[in-house]
Amino acid sequence: MSDKRPPLKPRTLAAQALGEDEPVTKAVVPPVHVATTFIRDPDNQYRSGYSYGRPDNATVRHAEAVIAALEGAQAAMLFGSGMAAATSVVLALEKPSHIVAPKVMYWGFRAWLISAARFGHTVEFVDTSDLEALRAAVKKDVTRLVWIETPGNPLWTITDIGAAAEIAHQAGALLAVDSTVATPILSQPISLGADIVMHSATKFLNGHSDVIAGALATANSGGLWKNIQAVRSHHGATLGPFEAWLLLRGMRTLDMRVRTQTETATQLAIRLGRHPNVAGVLYPGLKNHPGHAVAAKQMKSGFGAMLSILVKNGERAAIDTAARVEVWKRATSLGGVESLVEHRASVEGPSSPCPPELLRLSAGLEDPDDLFTDLDRALRGANQ
Ligand code: PLP
Repeated sequence: MSDKRPPLKPRTLAAQALGEDEPVTKAVVPPVHVATTFIRDPDNQYRSGYSYGRPDNATVRHAEAVIAALEGAQAAMLFGSGMAAATSVVLALEKPSHIVAPKVMYWGFRAWLISAARFGHTVEFVDTSDLEALRAAVKKDVTRLVWIETPGNPLWTITDIGAAAEIAHQAGALLAVDSTVATPILSQPISLGADIVMHSATKFLNGHSDVIAGALATANSGGLWKNIQAVRSHHGATLGPFEAWLLLRGMRTLDMRVRTQTETATQLAIRLGRHPNVAGVLYPGLKNHPGHAVAAKQMKSGFGAMLSILVKNGERAAIDTAARVEVWKRATSLGGVESLVEHRASVEGPSSPCPPELLRLSAGLEDPDDLFTDLDRALRGANQ
């Protein structure tokens, strides 16, 4: 038997926040570093590696190291929100750049990208699950960034990460993946060829609906990554230390939360698929989902904790269903321990591909029977 310890599994790394001892007290919980400024050495150097809190903070660095380890990345960076992380990638591109992005994606970033012309860029929106359409949209030596989101919010559209990376790289572009819903527990885009992974850490990474945060992880800490670091520092978009500490604590249970919530979502998708007042269930774990085969290939041990249902009898019935729930919380966002339901068309506006009768469901950690019973009652009431 070899003396060399095999690499630790993601679950172990996350549970122990990398397991480093705090050197002064030997505490098993890391401290919160709140200092905004640091003492220079007498010879004018900053040997500690810290000079000022806007570009850098030790608690933030600790949480970044956990994310980089989970994603198999060279480095990670935390931001004050998922939007700050995503927009920093675009702001770091040279101008003008051509960007290709999906038709089905987080609506807030899509809305921001639509106005990206004011930053000197052009953006083309395509169905990235259709590789021919993606190939046709990506222009050699013109496209600088291909952005995909998989599963894509709120239809849970699946894009083939490996194939998208190949298309992007052949054209000289980078591939960035919004992997908020998959989380590193189910999918590691860098191992499939992606250059940058983005998370709204507000969601599953933190998991307790008490932190707004964003993360980027990179396959290569040179090139564009250096520009993104500069954007974060100059725009003051870094995450605060208290939020970083909460995120570190949240990530300790990431593996268990994601697996359990995914199991619940799978059960709900099957049971809701048989419901008389449900016209359709959108969940990549179902064999009839158009992205099922690709999702099965690139998502390990499950298809995520997000699903949507199409309520029979249209928009009014969907809104009435959401109004009747008692266990589910009628709220925006996703990825927390409490299950959330939302009528997305009310949020996303007319440019959204979201059908009006769609309810988005974020499966939490409650008992799956309680969740189903509550929705069943709400759905039946909606048609009385
Ligand atoms: N990406 C996805 C898939 C999201 O669902 C969200 C937020 O809902 C974001 C990005 C934006 O993240 P934040 O709200 O942390 O800015």
